[in-house]
Amino acid sequence: MKLVLATSNAGKVREIKMLCTDFEVIAYTELIDPFEIIEDADTFKGNALIKARAVYQALGDENAVVLSDDSGISVDVLDGAPGIFSARYAGADANDKDNLYKLIEDVKAKGLLTSPAHYTAAIAVVTKEAEQTVHGWMYGDVITEVRGAKGFGYDPMFIPAGYDSTLGELSDEVKKKLSHRSKALSLAKIVLEAIRKSRV
Ligand code: IMP
Repeated sequence: MKLVLATSNAGKVREIKMLCTDFEVIAYTELIDPFEIIEDADTFKGNALIKARAVYQALGDENAVVLSDDSGISVDVLDGAPGIFSARYAGADANDKDNLYKLIEDVKAKGLLTSPAHYTAAIAVVTKEAEQTVHGWMYGDVITEVRGAKGFGYDPMFIPAGYDSTLGELSDEVKKKLSHRSKALSLAKIVLEAIRKSRV
């Protein structure tokens, strides 16, 4: 079964392809031109649904199976920021590096070198049969320095609970075991398997 991802974020596409080897995974931008999707819900779940519905409709294929991921990091000392604004924390045109350095400066501005934090992923699956959403979380701490270059986004400043290294330093295998995205995807796969079975 072909799984169309409602994202063009290269980091997410890479991880989801790695985690969903039972499906033929393609980014929607391989099928149609990328278009702007206004993510104006106030929850990860709401924004995941907006993205998956928009891509499902744009594909114009009623049998399409579309999966979206809306995710972000919430830092305790910043009262949960950046949260759903993680992708545009340093401004509408900010890239991952701008966002990473802004978060480091904002934690430092609180007079701290570290804070508890967590990642959230909401995954939506939209098909003709159903709309389903599931969640996953990963807890740990953010630090106020950049360590390592693996992963993407805020990974070089995030140390998962039980580890001494950042996700920028840890292997793909470790992130795969721990991540908010892999936990949400393991639930999404139950939904996808049910759809696959119902179609044969
Ligand atoms: P979205 O594309 O609107 O869901 O925004 C997701 C943003 O959250 C990304 O651009 C990253 O800044 C951040 N993010 C989500 N998941 C991860 C992750 O696994 N590692 C690092 N940053 C992440």
